Amino acid sequence: MLIMDLNNRYDIVIIGSGLGGLACGSILSRKGYKVCVLEKNYQIGGCLQDFKRDGVLFETGMHFIGSYDDGQILNTLFRYFGIYDKIEVKKLDINAFDVYCLNGKEFQIPVGIENFRQKLFDQFPSEKSAIDIYFKRLIEIYNSVNILNLSEVWEDMPVERYGVGENVYEFISQITNNEELKNILGCFNSLYAGKKESASLFIHSIISLFYLQSAYKLNGGSGQIARELSDVIVKNGGVVNTSSKVSSLICDDGLVKKIELENGDCYSADYVISNIDPLSTFNMLKNANLRKAFISRIEEQKQTISSFSIYIALKNKVLPYVNSNYYYYETEDIWALNSYNEDSWPAGYMMYMNKSKEFDGYAESMVLISPMKFREMEKWYDTFVEKRGEDYLNMKSVKQERLLTLLEKKIPDIREFIVNVYSSSPLTYRDYTGVREGAMYGVETDSRNPFVSQILPKTRVRNLLLTGQNINMHGVLGVSIGAIHTCAELLGINNIIAELKTYKK
Ligand SMILES: Cc1cc2nc3c(=O)[nH]c(=O)nc-3n(C[C@H](O)[C@H](O)[C@H](O)COP(=O)(O)OP(=O)(O)OC[C@H]3O[C@@H](n4cnc5c(N)ncnc54)[C@H](O)[C@@H]3O)c2cc1C
Repeated sequence: MLIMDLNNRYDIVIIGSGLGGLACGSILSRKGYKVCVLEKNYQIGGCLQDFKRDGVLFETGMHFIGSYDDGQILNTLFRYFGIYDKIEVKKLDINAFDVYCLNGKEFQIPVGIENFRQKLFDQFPSEKSAIDIYFKRLIEIYNSVNILNLSEVWEDMPVERYGVGENVYEFISQITNNEELKNILGCFNSLYAGKKESASLFIHSIISLFYLQSAYKLNGGSGQIARELSDVIVKNGGVVNTSSKVSSLICDDGLVKKIELENGDCYSADYVISNIDPLSTFNMLKNANLRKAFISRIEEQKQTISSFSIYIALKNKVLPYVNSNYYYYETEDIWALNSYNEDSWPAGYMMYMNKSKEFDGYAESMVLISPMKFREMEKWYDTFVEKRGEDYLNMKSVKQERLLTLLEKKIPDIREFIVNVYSSSPLTYRDYTGVREGAMYGVETDSRNPFVSQILPKTRVRNLLLTGQNINMHGVLGVSIGAIHTCAELLGINNIIAELKTYKK
């Protein structure tokens, strides 16, 4: 008979310390639940992890956030999580928070829906009605999401998300024939790894309007979000245990009764919240009697593309800091990044700089992210971090070189400015986050079959809930709202919405 260590008994055990897990932990610990977060890595945060090299801090994933002005949704959510005052941010350039360079031609995106609309009117005066239709539809979709407007959810509300089954590219193509405008209207697609044939208008609308309302850089790194959420949990009597990889969830009578770790430790809880890839969660369940058809559906879910990133430490006072995200495309096709040809990779990149704290006006580092297919890593699928062999390192230096060569088109002297370059591959993401195929944004929402990608927080195992980027949506907004939905299973969605209203400035 198993003798359970009573010290390892909690109200809530959360598997994974990504944004979703930690946000649930902060909400529930503040409500008096005894919370324990179990994280497999030495460092918490998942895609919020950052690392230091050559004295500079690099983010591995999240680096910019939106809707963070007073009264806006992320501002309200972070206040509700108890971390708003602790997060160091800097407003991105209000005239050009994102700069898109398509085949040599740059377009700057200003903050503010009206500013962006006006800029498009000025540039495409004959396309006014298309531009109006575009914004009207995006706003309609955004407003249809109750929680974004903090409006009550009525019982039995359909789970269908308005616009989720519509394709962005088709929608834009229906309203205009102007190719340049079509590309600009589709421009936020890299923020959700959208593909021309499957990108959902729902995701496009939420992401575009989220960033257009206000755009901020996480000045103190993304790890600060994880650390502050963890502090909230600990202050409220919870624990966050690192180097604690969960290996099995033992069920009996439709409930998780025991949480087993790889190191042999065992935990138990009234509720288990899993913040990891749903398929990994279901694979860990023992004796759960889940329907085979359900598991097959989860197995078949397509993942968003992964990425190859380079992290550049710069010499002092050589490169002026630019307060914008920069997206470089070799062609004028905004949808080309993900459908690249392996020989001609990279088709482009997303780049941002980090400002030097010591030398005002200069950058101390920069990061380039370029989409990369996981299957390019096939040769090394069975390897693990830092033990992948010489040929893997060679592959990485070839890719790194190609990205630097492309960067030279924007900054011709870049190689003279560099102290060191580091890189990460789709396998790095897979192994540091446990995300299937190292997918940048988790499961892909396919407008042609949107329900296949939809996973609800509730499962057939009565005390097992899910959270994270595969529930609801990816990114700081999607995952935060997902955490609200997960906690709503215990606290009631309208109770949370009522409370959120009190945090709105
Ligand atoms: C390159 C890149 C750039 C991005 N940039 C942005 C951005 O600028 N803005 C934005 O809003 N979003 C961005 N995103 C997306 C965003 O970072 C993610 O959607 C979000 O952070 C995912 O959070 P999550 O809660 O799903 O957890 P994850 O980050 O996936 O974390 C899951 C955690 O679970 C742990 N875990 C896994 N298996 C186990 C186990 N068996 N036992 C215990 N622990 C386990 C993992 O180690 C990990 O810590 C970016 C993503 C990437 C990859």
